[in-house]
Formats: sequence, structure tokens, C-alpha cells
Amino acid sequence: MEDCLFCKIAAGEIPSSKVYEDDICYAFNDIDPQAPTHFLVIPKQHIKSVAAVDETNSAIVAHCFEVIARVAKEKGMDSFRVVSNIGEQAGQSVFHLHFHVLSGRDMTWPPG
Ligand code: 5GP
Ligand code: ZN
Repeated sequence: MEDCLFCKIAAGEIPSSKVYEDDICYAFNDIDPQAPTHFLVIPKQHIKSVAAVDETNSAIVAHCFEVIARVAKEKGMDSFRVVSNIGEQAGQSVFHLHFHVLSGRDMTWPPG
């Protein structure tokens, strides 16, 4: 396995607050929440970022979005934001694809 924080979280080797799990993806609460609800949805397969999505792995990404929609519905979230940072300048700090799902407060646009 890659020496990757989110691979270890998905494998249960590092504890996390689980929101959802299936064979393809894992969702867990962000350790430093930026909104009243802030969880991350990650593929279990190591993909570096959105920039590494291609025809071999795009079905996994599509599944992550199905999970986002399902969990949002279960939590009664009718207004929320999905963010993925790609590269250091954009704020990516963990280089395993993840979708931030944020809800529960007013948000500005464009983001700073
Ligand atoms: P990025 O900066 O790459 O877009 O997002 C990484 C996110 O992972 C950050 O929001 C950060 O708070 C979260 N994070 C970093 N380390 C951990 C951890 O060990 N556990 C959890 N639950 N979240 C983490
Ligand atoms: Zn990884």
C-alpha cells in the first residue's frame, strides 16, 4: 500500500469518524470541520486527485457522487457544497482524491 494517510483511514488502520462505507468508497468526518457538517468522501482505491481521473477510474468517481447524494439525503441536507482541491496552490494537502461535503452555514461565492 502507498504511504498515504487516506489509504490508511479507508483501510481502518487509522481511526476516523465513519459516515458511510461500501466496497468502493469511504466517508468520514473531517478532523478540522469548516462547517457544522463537514465530511470527506474518498475512493478506497488510491487516486491522487481529480487530475488523475481517467477512463480506468471514472466509474469510481461517479460512485462517490452517488454516495454524496445518498448521504446528503439521509442527513436531510438540502443545501450543501462539494469541493475538491487539486494541487498545493488550490489547497490540496492530502494527495488522495477526496470530496469535501460542507453544509449548515451560509457560504460565499466565489470561495477565497
Ligand atoms: P485538502 O486540504 O487536501 O483539500 O483536505 C484535506 C482534509 O483532510 C482537511 O480538511 C483536513 O482537515 C482533513 N484531514 C487531515 N488529516 C486528517 C485525519 O487524520 N483525519 C481526518 N478525519 N481528517 C483529516
Ligand atoms: Zn491513498
